[in-house]
Amino acid sequence: MPTRVVVWDSLIGETFPCTYPHDMEISRRAVIASGISTGLTFALAACAADGRATSANLSSTDSPGVGTDLYPTSFLRTSWSTDPFANGSYSYLAPSNVGTDARDMLAEPIDRLHFAGEATSPTAPATTHGAWESGQRAAAEIMETAGTVIVIGAGFAGLAAARDLTRSGREVIVVDARDRAGGRAHTVSLNGIPADLGPSWIHGVEGNPMVELAASAGVEILPFDYDNQVGGSPSAEAFLDTVLEEAASADDAEGRPLSDALPDELTVDQQWVIAVNVSGEFGADPTELSMAAPDEGSELRGGDALLNPGYSQIVDHVAQGLDIRLRWIVSNIAYDETGVVVTSDDGQELRADHAIVTLPVGVLHAGSVTFSPPLDETKTQALDALQSGLLDKLWLEFDEVFWDEDADVINWIDPEHPGNWAFWVNGVKFFGKPVLLGFSAGRVAREFSKKTDEELIASAMRAVQSMKR
Ligand SMILES: Cc1cc2nc3c(=O)[nH]c(=O)nc-3n(C[C@H](O)[C@H](O)[C@H](O)COP(=O)(O)OP(=O)(O)OC[C@H]3O[C@@H](n4cnc5c(N)ncnc54)[C@H](O)[C@@H]3O)c2cc1C
Repeated sequence: MPTRVVVWDSLIGETFPCTYPHDMEISRRAVIASGISTGLTFALAACAADGRATSANLSSTDSPGVGTDLYPTSFLRTSWSTDPFANGSYSYLAPSNVGTDARDMLAEPIDRLHFAGEATSPTAPATTHGAWESGQRAAAEIMETAGTVIVIGAGFAGLAAARDLTRSGREVIVVDARDRAGGRAHTVSLNGIPADLGPSWIHGVEGNPMVELAASAGVEILPFDYDNQVGGSPSAEAFLDTVLEEAASADDAEGRPLSDALPDELTVDQQWVIAVNVSGEFGADPTELSMAAPDEGSELRGGDALLNPGYSQIVDHVAQGLDIRLRWIVSNIAYDETGVVVTSDDGQELRADHAIVTLPVGVLHAGSVTFSPPLDETKTQALDALQSGLLDKLWLEFDEVFWDEDADVINWIDPEHPGNWAFWVNGVKFFGKPVLLGFSAGRVAREFSKKTDEELIASAMRAVQSMKR
């Protein structure tokens, strides 16, 4: 019998049932290669959802196989590197001669073209509130002059800009390539568990505009304590603190990779802490990151929080009343000192006095959107310094909880591959269901993105087994 999983798109409120005609057995080869047997069969093949995520319900076979009786009943994985409207997870600072100025350089207007998006935020890059505040900054630039506005991108940056301008009586059209607003912020339901495919946390709740928006959208804030963790290595954390301190004050920190600040040989624990606190935070590895990257942004205060039922409810709230044209894929942006013409991939044209570009740096690098005239040297230098990182997520749902129920974070130090499945969130504590949320980042995430679902789950189960009490 075919089985069904329903992926719910929260913005347009429709369900997209995906039905598959046959069971698909988990790859025995993958299971053996990872040294475990989960004995799973895929009751359902992967179901493509927005954000290039896939999910499936799973069932056990009669014989669970060698070594473990644990198996997930469903999973959900993201693949941000294959999402053409993001091309990665968020921006990071690479070594360059422009250093941290890159964000202001990307933000600088050219003629009637204005720029926003998380990558343009010097105070909170790679965050939802940084994106929101960048949109407000771009709107304020335009407030000084009259005229119509096209906002390119309906993520938090575009929504903030459009909201401020619309509220002040300006004529604003927002265009977005996707079939929903929110951009990288998007929540789906995994069998009733709110799963944020992109951002999960509000980082630094004190003075954070996302907190107020969550409250007005009726979204519950769930305080999250990264220090309430099991596993891990305090001595490796102390080692990294020292490395980052020294890196920040090193000569030519902006132009050198963070790997220059690390010893040639790293212990297993040190590799683990770098996977969690460097790659996991920036979506990039020490060889790719500038030594100045950890010093970017303002201090985040007040702790962190997860959201119930997730970021999409905030998106729905702030998108209300805006003129948003969905499935509108921009292919060219022509601009001069008199105005802008934005063209879509199917030849539609929109004209306005101003445009605000909120395209992710991954999209700007891909060249799928062209500019006429091409972007100037300031922008190309900024884009050389601002690359697109990668963070991917894997949710595993189980029949029951077998791990530490009180921890917020469960670490795993794989003795053979210390960067693999290094950091997990204990979902039962926040969403009341036996679910674990694992992360992969940087090189590891790029390698994992090529794995089949069966291979990925088999590899994650090595970490999960270690959590059994
Ligand atoms: C896996 C992951 C985890 C994250 N975790 C956190 C977290 O916990 N906390 C946090 O604060 N932040 C987190 N972030 C970062 C946060 O999601 C972003 O900083 C923020 O959402 C970016 O908003 P934005 O408006 O700048 O860009 P986007 O949300 O990407 O908006 C840009 C819009 O442009 C559109 N677009 C792209 N190409 C075209 C085109 N050709 N034509 C028309 N439209 C186009 C896209 O569809 C998109 O809607 C995470 C991101 C990811 C991916």
